Amino acid sequence: MTFDLLLRNARVIDPSQGIDGVQDVAFQDGKVAAVGEGLGNDAREISDLSGRIVTPGLIDLHTHVYWGGTSLGIDAEAFARTSAVTTAVDTGSAGPGNYPGFRRHVIEQAGSRILAYLHVSFAGIFGFSRSVMVGESHDMRLMAAREAVEVAASDPENIIGIKVRVGHHASGPSGIDPLIIALQVADETGLPLMCHIDEPPPSYEAVVDMLRPGDILTHCFRPFPNAPLSRDGMVKSAVIAARERGVIFDIGHGMGSFGWKTARGMMAAGFPPDVISSDVHALCIDGPAYDLVTTMSKFLPLGMDLPEIVRAATEAPAQALRRPQLGSLRPGSEGDASVLSLRSGSFDLEDVLGEVTTSDQRIFAEGCVIGGKWFAKPGATGD
Ligand SMILES: [Zn+2]
Repeated sequence: MTFDLLLRNARVIDPSQGIDGVQDVAFQDGKVAAVGEGLGNDAREISDLSGRIVTPGLIDLHTHVYWGGTSLGIDAEAFARTSAVTTAVDTGSAGPGNYPGFRRHVIEQAGSRILAYLHVSFAGIFGFSRSVMVGESHDMRLMAAREAVEVAASDPENIIGIKVRVGHHASGPSGIDPLIIALQVADETGLPLMCHIDEPPPSYEAVVDMLRPGDILTHCFRPFPNAPLSRDGMVKSAVIAARERGVIFDIGHGMGSFGWKTARGMMAAGFPPDVISSDVHALCIDGPAYDLVTTMSKFLPLGMDLPEIVRAATEAPAQALRRPQLGSLRPGSEGDASVLSLRSGSFDLEDVLGEVTTSDQRIFAEGCVIGGKWFAKPGATGD
C-alpha cells in the first residue's frame, strides 16, 4: 500500500492504545492507516520527526472561535497552526439566535475541525469584552429552550452538546435557574451539558449536584471563592460524589479559572482533572491561558505524567464529545495528529491570580496533521 503521508521516528504517545514509544504513523485517504515500528518507505510524502512527539490530534474542549460574530472569538485556523489543536470545541459562543452564522461563516469555512456546544441563551456570549461585560444568563427572557432544541436538532454533525454559564458574573440575579433550563434542553436533545461556574452564588456544590453522568463541569480548578477544596485541603464531598457518578471535570483555564493553589491541592488529594482545556478567547490568548499546550504544561510541575496529560487532551475529550473517531491514532480514526516537543529549561507559568510556578519542562506545539494532510508543517529539527 502506498501511504499518502508517513511520519517517521517520532515518540508516539497515544493513550487510547497504550502506545508510548518511537514508532511511525501513516495516513491514507484522510484516515490513520497504520501505527507501528518501521512502516517502510512507500509513501507520497515522508516526514522524519526524530526528537519530536506525535500524539492524536489535540482536542481543546473549551475554546471560543466565533471570530467576528462574538467579541471574544479568536481565529480557529490560526490557533490550529500555532497551537497544534486540530479540533477546537467552541463552548457556547453561539446560541440558537446566532448559531446559523457560526456554522456558515466559521465552521464550514475552516480547514481545522470545529465542534460546538450550543448555548441555551438566545445569542450566546454576546457581551464579553474588556469594556462591555454583560452576562448572557442574567436575563431569563434570553433562555431559549425550544429554540435551542430546534437548532441542536438541525445540525447534529457539529453540535455535540449544550452550554450554560451560571455564577455571580454570568447569571447574576438569575442564580442557578439557567442551569435548570439548560438541563431540560440537554435532556430533550439527548446531548451532554457543559456548565460553567464562576464566583458564587450558585455554589460549586449546588452546581455539581445537578449534573448528570457525562455532563461536564468546566473551570473545575478555579481559585477561591467557589473552589472544589475545603480549607483543610479535603475535596468537597459533592465533588467526589459527582466524579463517582460520572460527571467530567474540565480545566477551562481562561482568564479567571485556574489557580495554582487549587490545582496543587486537588492533585495532592488524588483528584486530577479528566480533561485539560484552555478556554482560549480574545481576552486570555495573550495570557494567562495562551493556548492548550501551555495549559497542558502546567500539569508537568503538578506531577502528572506526559501520557496522562496527553490523554486529557485527546482520548478524554473525545469521549466527552462522544466522538471516538477523534483523539486516537487507531487505524480508521480521523487522520489528525499533533506534533509536539518537550523541552527542558526554566519556564515561568502563571495562573489567573498572577502566581508563578517555575517548571523545568514545557510542552511546545510544532505542527499538526488534519484529515491526513499537513495543516501546519513543523520546521527543521533543532530550530
Ligand atoms: Zn469559556
